Amino acid sequence: MSLRERLVSRIIRSGPMPISDFMTTCLHDPELGYYATRPALGDLGDFITAPHVSQMFGELIGLWAADVWVRLGRPTRVRVVELGPGDGTMMSDMLRAARAVPAFSDAMDIWLVESSPPLRSAQTAALAGTPVRWARDLAALPTSDPCILVANEFLDCLPIDQWVRRGDRWFPRRIGLDAAGDLVFVVDAPYPGASPAMDGDVIAEQSPALADFGRKVGEMVARLSGGALFIDYGPAGAATGDTLQALRNHRKESALARPGEADLTAHVDFSTFLEAARAGGARTAPLETQGDFLRRLGIGVRAEALARANPQKTALIQRQLQRLVAPAHMGELFKVACVHSSDLLAP
Ligand code: SAH
Repeated sequence: MSLRERLVSRIIRSGPMPISDFMTTCLHDPELGYYATRPALGDLGDFITAPHVSQMFGELIGLWAADVWVRLGRPTRVRVVELGPGDGTMMSDMLRAARAVPAFSDAMDIWLVESSPPLRSAQTAALAGTPVRWARDLAALPTSDPCILVANEFLDCLPIDQWVRRGDRWFPRRIGLDAAGDLVFVVDAPYPGASPAMDGDVIAEQSPALADFGRKVGEMVARLSGGALFIDYGPAGAATGDTLQALRNHRKESALARPGEADLTAHVDFSTFLEAARAGGARTAPLETQGDFLRRLGIGVRAEALARANPQKTALIQRQLQRLVAPAHMGELFKVACVHSSDLLAP
């Protein structure tokens, strides 16, 4: 049975399905979910992320991590955790940059939080020779030592739900079936029952999973001491609108088009995430754009040094720099959220 057939029979059995359940099934079904079967990053895959644009990205995150380690008082052991490491590119660039600070490299106990078996294999290959361990989620990490967490495009995979305004009330937007038995978005009202969603609907999104995760990050960072960096795309403040998106072969398509065959994401509601982290006991730095963050870390200087070492690649390095920092590319839509313990000056 295909994933679509399974989803359809579940809807026939139990009625319209929450979008969060649909996302979780499409991404993580152990047999047919996207991350179990065909996660494909990079030029030949479904989507490109910042670590694939340029090695400068991971290198600067590595320096950020080294700076946190210094602010933590140079502990002899620090847990460095990446969530959703994809094909391992960012961690391998981070580790290369961190070698500039040998005592930090020596102190690192590296863990990867990854749910996808094929991506774990890719990470094993990318990080061959480096001792790393895997955990299924934050709860499975050791509970001693200060910690440094990093994650790029991880929060956007956490499942969301949607609500639709009809008159002055909000009703859940779910996934149901049309007369032909195809998956469609519906508005699920108790009376007169589910009706088709419409183009002009006012939609609001909410992610209990994001809030829950934010609280856990806040609790962990506050308890162990440390800093956490989350880079992802989403608005700086409250926003409405449908941001659920499927990407396949670098093209956007309807989330319902090919369940399990496309990557599914939604914009990250950073204010909810940061508020939850503070409720968990941590502090948070003001949200920053990726462009400002990378410039502040010195990406301009790094680009010049790389171009001096590879003069024939100067134009390419300039283009990569622009993709990462220019407002028209990733510089403004992508935001950087930092959660830290109260004993640490905002890194
Ligand atoms: N950080 C990488 C990959 C981003 S794709 C990059 O920037 O290129 C999202 C990553 O998060 C993948 O590695 C995916 O398998 C992982 N992931 C998604 N949801 C997860 C979950 N609930 N638990 C653990 N890993 C998850």
